Amino acid sequence: MINYEAFLENYKQLQASIAKVCSECGRSPETVKVTAVTKNNPADCVEYAHKAGLFAVGENRIQEAQSKKEELQDNSIRWELVGHLQSNKAKKAIELFDRIQTVDSFALAQRIDRIAGELGIQQAILLQFNTGEDPKKFGATQLEAHKLVESVLTLKNIKLEGLMTIAPIGKEEARVAFKRLANLKEELESTLGVTLPELSMGMSGDFEEAIAAGSTLIRVGTYLFGERSY
Ligand SMILES: *Cc1c(COP(=O)(O)O)cnc(C)c1O
Repeated sequence: MINYEAFLENYKQLQASIAKVCSECGRSPETVKVTAVTKNNPADCVEYAHKAGLFAVGENRIQEAQSKKEELQDNSIRWELVGHLQSNKAKKAIELFDRIQTVDSFALAQRIDRIAGELGIQQAILLQFNTGEDPKKFGATQLEAHKLVESVLTLKNIKLEGLMTIAPIGKEEARVAFKRLANLKEELESTLGVTLPELSMGMSGDFEEAIAAGSTLIRVGTYLFGERSY
């Protein structure tokens, strides 16, 4: 595993890259938050992210997030679910995560709403769209977006905070997928009269394209922690 100093060095480089893209496209670097994706890395990486003041950590498996949270003395950093959620694990996800970024159907949203209601909380979510139209990726389609968002907005125990996508491999493909998600956000905001502030897009290999397209939240693992060992 990477040591804290090396991690900090990577984080500084990442911040410099973010600042560079931001200046090129006329954005302020403070408008881009970083979720440190700690999946397949030890709990120490969560501590690193916390210590360095990153916005949140991202995990893609319920079980892994749960054991890390139990292992850590201080797990008070924000936790974001960035992996696909099976509906039978919705309750655990609600208990473990401050936000679920990967809601991609009304059925799943309804289930989260019902459980959140039972727990007496409001669950923050993002809706995941497969704007890269990659058959291997999860996410709702753009065609169903309007109806999906409209329906999710009726759920009282859900706080819809924005949209998320995972782009296909390849910078040009990624650029297209990010632009589509940004356009979709604007379209939904104007037709439905809502604000969807968060645009979660961009990973180690494509965060620059994502920021240029308007990302407010990049999800970065490898760039910060090195190649995952398992
Ligand atoms: C693994 C993962 C990331 C981080 O990927 P890196 O290429 O390691 O930065 C981001 N988002 C999601 C949804 C992931 O599963």
